[in-house]
Amino acid sequence: MIKEQISVFDIFKIGIGPSSSHTLGPWRAAQQFTASLMEQDLLNQTEGLKILLYGSLAKTGKGHGTDVAILLGLSGADPVTFDVDAVAPTFEHIKYEKRLNLANTTAIDFDYSNDLLFLYAESLPFHPNAVTFQAFLNNGKAFSETYYSIGGGFVVKEGDDNRTKKQVDLPFPVEKAKDLLHWCLSTGLKVSEIVLENELAWRNEVQTKNGIMQHFQVMRDCMYRGCHEAGFLPGGLDVARRAAPLNKKLIGHSAYHDYDSWISAIRAGGNGFNYILDWVSCFALAVNEENASFGRVVTAPTNGAAGVIPAVLQYFIVFCDGYTEDKIIQFIACASEIGSIFKKGATISAAMGGCQAEIGVSSAMAAAALTECLGGSQRQVLMAAEIAMEHHLGLTCDPIGGLVQIPCIERNTMGAIKAITASQLALQSNPDKAKVSLDAVVNTMWETALDMNAKYKETSDGGLATNIPISLPEC
Ligand code: SF4
Repeated sequence: MIKEQISVFDIFKIGIGPSSSHTLGPWRAAQQFTASLMEQDLLNQTEGLKILLYGSLAKTGKGHGTDVAILLGLSGADPVTFDVDAVAPTFEHIKYEKRLNLANTTAIDFDYSNDLLFLYAESLPFHPNAVTFQAFLNNGKAFSETYYSIGGGFVVKEGDDNRTKKQVDLPFPVEKAKDLLHWCLSTGLKVSEIVLENELAWRNEVQTKNGIMQHFQVMRDCMYRGCHEAGFLPGGLDVARRAAPLNKKLIGHSAYHDYDSWISAIRAGGNGFNYILDWVSCFALAVNEENASFGRVVTAPTNGAAGVIPAVLQYFIVFCDGYTEDKIIQFIACASEIGSIFKKGATISAAMGGCQAEIGVSSAMAAAALTECLGGSQRQVLMAAEIAMEHHLGLTCDPIGGLVQIPCIERNTMGAIKAITASQLALQSNPDKAKVSLDAVVNTMWETALDMNAKYKETSDGGLATNIPISLPEC
């Protein structure tokens, strides 16, 4: 069987909020479907289109912007570059005009109410996040494809598997944490160095490092924007943004005009425990408030959990003197390997494993990266990841109203703080005496995912989603 090969840019992807599985993945699926139509010379023959959303994509698709993402993807927009301020107006325009310009080349009639169907009671067996596209051609025939959004923006087309993905020769293939540890100990390389060596199989070192810094800049801009944008989040829950008022309160009268001077202003406030705690929360809140507002974010490894890694990285930059390009690359590279191990051995999809697969994995990734950057040994790095996940096991996914807001936004602050605590614990421990290995916790997380009731897997059929009374306007 061919093994899955995951690059740092598979784990960290630039996209638009609020969800990697329900927004970015379906967006990519829509782009791939129009690409299929083009490849088969069917685009110009297409006269009509139906989109069928199944399982979790149907149940929480409206709250997660699945409909928005699919229509934009079909229109030829790209989530990396599309103007985030144009997302809502473009979507409304398509609905109002009842016209869809497929791949920005073929305009067809499209009635949102009749042509995009949320099949709340239907699921497909392979994965809860499924979407079928049916194109109706001018010769009376139809062409259809089904895609699964399997978490973190990853998409699988029905009938495809890893064999269709181009395989490369990795110098250090890693399936499990024990493989990673083997390579680290036999070469003396750090986890991040193993990752950077493997990335050479896909592109040269400069391209990888530039790519990582580009992702860091998107994370940083997202956080900075979120710390300065007051108001309420979209969706009808009436959730007030908290990062901007908190930033204002913490920064006091200090003057700053950009990211760098903001960091200096934060540092000038000292390093008291509550002060740092407040800032870490503020960083995480900022990213996820942007994510909830269809802002540009980096999946880390998902959108719902996009605030954990930037918050811990920002903590490292500001309070641990980590603001160098090399350290930022080291942090992101190390984090990506831990995310890959969870994706290969368990899941990073909340629809498969609940929130342990999102916030739990991001916390483990951040804990490992912080530990390496603070000088921990390779065993301590893996231990930190294990501790962070161990204390997220069983965490359910129950977003109120199907929106990535409650509990999601606050939950990122918890994931970040747990990551810092896990890192500190690992740094103060002897990993030879650890009773639980990272592989054991990956396996436990997967078994827990299999046992978890479906209502806690991104369906909004249980938990907080059914215990908090809300009245959302019909979308
Ligand atoms: S509860 Fe967790 S897994 Fe579910 S949508 Fe929110 S952040 Fe994602």
